[in-house]
Amino acid sequence: MPLSFTASPLDFSGLERPNTDWLRAQHEHKDAQIVLFHGLDLIEAQPSTPMVAAIRFISMDDLDSLGPIYLGQVEGTPWFAASLAQAHGEKPAWNFRAATMALPHDIAAIAGRARALLAWHGRRRFCSNCGGHNHPKDGGLRLQCGSCEMEHFPRIDPCVIMLVHCGERCLLGRQANWPDGAYTTLAGFMEPGETIEEACAREVYEESNQRVIKTEYIASQPWPFPSSLMIGLLAEITPDQEVIARDDLEDARWFDRESLRTLLDGPLKAMAPDHYSISRLLLKTWLDRGV
Ligand SMILES: [Zn+2]
Repeated sequence: MPLSFTASPLDFSGLERPNTDWLRAQHEHKDAQIVLFHGLDLIEAQPSTPMVAAIRFISMDDLDSLGPIYLGQVEGTPWFAASLAQAHGEKPAWNFRAATMALPHDIAAIAGRARALLAWHGRRRFCSNCGGHNHPKDGGLRLQCGSCEMEHFPRIDPCVIMLVHCGERCLLGRQANWPDGAYTTLAGFMEPGETIEEACAREVYEESNQRVIKTEYIASQPWPFPSSLMIGLLAEITPDQEVIARDDLEDARWFDRESLRTLLDGPLKAMAPDHYSISRLLLKTWLDRGV
């Protein structure tokens, strides 16, 4: 199974969506679908089923957003997303993380794109330049200020996530609030003015006092909490530095392949399914190379 939130079935219609007539036709399409949120969590229509409705049955007055966001097409059918102002019935919204661990891959990928865009709309109702009201353009993939006309584009926060390794061992860390015995890959946000490799080296040094000598790109994963892009790497280090867990780590320690297998089958499996997080892919990539 592909990583969650990757390989979306959506065609984003990047060439067509600036055309307002085309966009209106998408909205009026008889089969147009809308996936509904409350806040940034999904609404559960039936047990384990997110609320996806025909958009023609939804009143725009019920939305708590800048209007429905056009997500793209799935096999010619337009898909939108919006957040409802009121909770649906008595039930609380369906925690997004729990929901997307359980949902089929395609709908989780659609929901991930929706959540990142809804979160951005929620934080950008007003222009960061002049405080004027922002208005959606291109189906909500762009916002424009009604006063100073500044354009605003969706925010994506790149984050490096890396498996630190040296010979037959890898170095994993844990944070204080994680379940007992859970250790995983190091990670951190990129900073302005650095390359992916430099961000990897800096984060590894800051969190574990290790010096990276080689960086290898493995894969990436959109991570809609709220709008990161995880850049997955293997980071080889020199063998001579003392391990010091610091920054946001409570502990960091070495694992050989056998103890990593035990970790994967125990504490990590209890935290999330294997396909959910790119860290698991990195661990398994390194593990498989030693076979
Ligand atoms: Zn403005």
